[in-house]
Amino acid sequence: MAEHDSFAEKHRRLLDEIAQDARETAFWTGRKAFSDNTMAAMAAVPRHEFVRDGDEVVAYINRPQPIGHGQTISQPYIVALMTDLLDLDGTEKVLEIGTGSGYQAAVLAHAAARVFTIEVVAELGWAAADRLKALQYGNVFVRIGDGYQGWPEEAPFDAIIVTAAPERIPEALIAQLRPGGRMIVPIGRAHDRQTLTLVVKGLDGKVTVDSVLPVAFVPMVKGK
Ligand code: SAH
Repeated sequence: MAEHDSFAEKHRRLLDEIAQDARETAFWTGRKAFSDNTMAAMAAVPRHEFVRDGDEVVAYINRPQPIGHGQTISQPYIVALMTDLLDLDGTEKVLEIGTGSGYQAAVLAHAAARVFTIEVVAELGWAAADRLKALQYGNVFVRIGDGYQGWPEEAPFDAIIVTAAPERIPEALIAQLRPGGRMIVPIGRAHDRQTLTLVVKGLDGKVTVDSVLPVAFVPMVKGK
């Protein structure tokens, strides 16, 4: 109980920091504050369940953390920003590329209706699926595979989020986005700065692309 309380206090402070980061980056993102839907999702997910054993004390620091296999769980502010830019209202079917720890998928599970998430590193994907099941996220579906192919059997998606950086927007993902849908993806070369990029597909199928913010993500690797 004492431990639970200490996470609750850290979690509250993290939400305040995210709100402050949102204000400070409004110039780039165009948003001074994130929606109630986004912030409620950030408040609902116990991030200490998604870091490695022994790292729980740093789970609520507003930083990325290592999750093994050279991968990272993203910074909470970035998770909130990417979720917010999808403009979710709770009814959507969302595709995520790069399950990692499953944390972003859990946030989306609160903010949207259903989440389909693909991870290329099998051990990470299995661990995330077990964790999400234990936490009773029955609306998240994990697949081991290559995110460049998307999940054609479940397409189209109302929103797509890519949490590893490809050099260009994968064609298959644009094709699997519903007209009127939104995709958020960090674009750029591996081990370099990338640009968080918002892709909007109009109802007429026309695609517009906007740069949001410089970011640092792990590369999206070519799958088998
Ligand atoms: N969203 C995760 C963090 C993702 S880190 C979280 O909340 O914890 C990026 C993840 O993308 C890594 O787990 C990496 O293995 C995965 N990845 C990289 N290339 C991929 C690809 N082609 N298809 C699917 N996943 C990929």
